[in-house]
Amino acid sequence: MADVPAECTIKVMCRFRPLNSSEVARGDKYIPKFQGEDHVVVGSKPFQFDRVFQPNTTQEQVYNACAQKIVKDVLEGYNGTIFAYGQTSSGKTHTMEGNLHDTDGMGIIPRIVQDIFNYIYSMDENLEFHIKVSYFEIYLDKIRDLLDGIPLCYMPFCLFPVDSVAKKVLLFKSSILPEGPCLSLSSQVSKTGAEGAVLDEAKNINKSLSSLGNVISALAEGSGYIPYRDSKMTRILQDSLGGNCRTTIVICASPSAYNESETKSTLMFGQRAK
Ligand code: ADP
Repeated sequence: MADVPAECTIKVMCRFRPLNSSEVARGDKYIPKFQGEDHVVVGSKPFQFDRVFQPNTTQEQVYNACAQKIVKDVLEGYNGTIFAYGQTSSGKTHTMEGNLHDTDGMGIIPRIVQDIFNYIYSMDENLEFHIKVSYFEIYLDKIRDLLDGIPLCYMPFCLFPVDSVAKKVLLFKSSILPEGPCLSLSSQVSKTGAEGAVLDEAKNINKSLSSLGNVISALAEGSGYIPYRDSKMTRILQDSLGGNCRTTIVICASPSAYNESETKSTLMFGQRAK
């Protein structure tokens, strides 16, 4: 791991999903070669991460390695950020959300909520906790509040009996706040090329992703200047990524030879942060 300011740690994990049914039907070759807990070779190129998860890794194992410690640190006052990065269909939603209604299938977000509430339940009844949630999309450099008009019962929080506990727990939504616990990114670079609005979209996504990459590698290098102001996304994430930060990046990838070049560039993005 590169030198980072003492109070700031960035971990990069890499998760491969299983071959999906269309990849199997097409007879795609399975390309990753896993070596130990932290190495993977893709098309003869070796990559090292803090952890590499093979396709059979459970949601619980991913949570324990990627998020559990961050939640503990956040409850002690650190800024925590967890985000998934990878091409479409590489497993970002599965990793961050998963199946909200199945204990084994739950992804990182509902497990974080569960841990936070368990912590609150274990505390002195006289303490008052305020939890803010924001959920928004940055699209073509514009910010859109995705909770606008959505009742809170549609959030993972509905899994918890908030009103029935003796402790005073306040939930409220707030639109443009940078405390969002996660961010799921998708890099939509079409194999067939892009035109017009799709091209604008691709350029904007690439701009956000390259600024994010620059910020993360500047943080990982311990550089004095961190270019947060280069994009809306990095400006919003400034408080989460900077200062006393605990950041985990989950690089999501397909194991199919069909996606080899996207997988390599995804893994290289992750490597920049180390
Ligand atoms: P993304 O959000 O990156 O576009 P998804 O999370 O929606 O991708 O994953 C695409 C499909 O692959 C979904 O049907 C999802 O359930 C499945 N999938 C992804 N990761 C895994 C995994 N680790 N194990 C089993 N199925 C997975």
